[in-house]
Amino acid sequence: MTARILNGNVIRDQIYAELEHEIAALVAHGVQPGLAAVLAGDNPASHIYVKSKIAACAKLGLESFQFAPPSSVQTADLISLIEELNRRDDVDGILVQLPLPSQVDSKRVLEAVDPAKDVDGFHPLNLGKLVAGRPGLVACTPAGVMEILRRSGIKIEGANAVVLGRSDIVGKPMALLLLHANATVTVCHSKTRALPDVVRGADILVAAIGRAAMVEPSWIRPGATVIDVGINRITDAAEAARLFAKHPERLAQFRDKGSVLVGDVHPDAAEVAGAITPVPGGVGPLTIAMLMSNTVRAARLRRGQAKQPAATVGRL
Ligand code: NAP
Repeated sequence: MTARILNGNVIRDQIYAELEHEIAALVAHGVQPGLAAVLAGDNPASHIYVKSKIAACAKLGLESFQFAPPSSVQTADLISLIEELNRRDDVDGILVQLPLPSQVDSKRVLEAVDPAKDVDGFHPLNLGKLVAGRPGLVACTPAGVMEILRRSGIKIEGANAVVLGRSDIVGKPMALLLLHANATVTVCHSKTRALPDVVRGADILVAAIGRAAMVEPSWIRPGATVIDVGINRITDAAEAARLFAKHPERLAQFRDKGSVLVGDVHPDAAEVAGAITPVPGGVGPLTIAMLMSNTVRAARLRRGQAKQPAATVGRL
């Protein structure tokens, strides 16, 4: 069997087309949604992520504001900045790019964000709403996975879903979203026993562990849907040759660039799965799309435009 490829770029483009209409309708009602991005320090990967998020705002017609405190910034300085952004009416969403510099208390900073502007869905109030199944702002990556499943016609209700990983930003909210969609959910982590056997029970597998190609094809139930959240950069030629032995085009990429991306699932799992997200080009594009969606939603809820045409994206 060769799996159907669940192309995240195509789904992102569908969502962007819907958001463009929604944003235009808001602007016509005098509401210009705005996203503030706080990027502290000089982590190169964080700079790339924030640049992509700002570019997405520009593409869709969202206002964006960037703040770049130095890497010496202290917790109190960041909290003051967040409080100022909480007060600003032109800021609907506040994005604090992680990781913050090591001297900063990240939890305190994230908890300072007004829950109504918490477009990353990390605030305890929004997490609590998610637990209770009440509408709120939901973490972008798991919300994006739900969009992939729904828009690809994958049946969730009654399915056995296995979530690999229990982080606050991916695994836990992912498990809750699948539960609310009536899947039977098992959450696995580093202490789970007989992991391959548990994974073999999955109709839907979501892998978010940050371990390159750890999920072997033999762990996948034939025909299962595999959502690979992991993003791991391979720089070792022998490892690339082993992982991509059947994928000459990926090996060619490695030779060109000196590195290649792989998910948490072995690339050959596509020979067993019924449907699978590629890495790159699967879950990744949806994460930014859901950030845009959350910003529009936050603007609509906070500025009293809740009766605008119902958005189709990312709702509990
Ligand atoms: P994380 O905070 O490091 O959490 C990893 C989770 O995996 C933990 O719950 C850990 O278990 C579990 N785990 C680690 N090794 C394991 C093993 N050998 N067997 C079973 N479970 C194991 O990671 P994260 O932030 O959730 O991210 C996970 C992956 O998703 C990373 O590759 C990250 O780059 C990627 N990611 C992608 C996107 C995207 O947009 N596509 C967004 C976010 C993250 P314990 O709890 O027991 O330690």
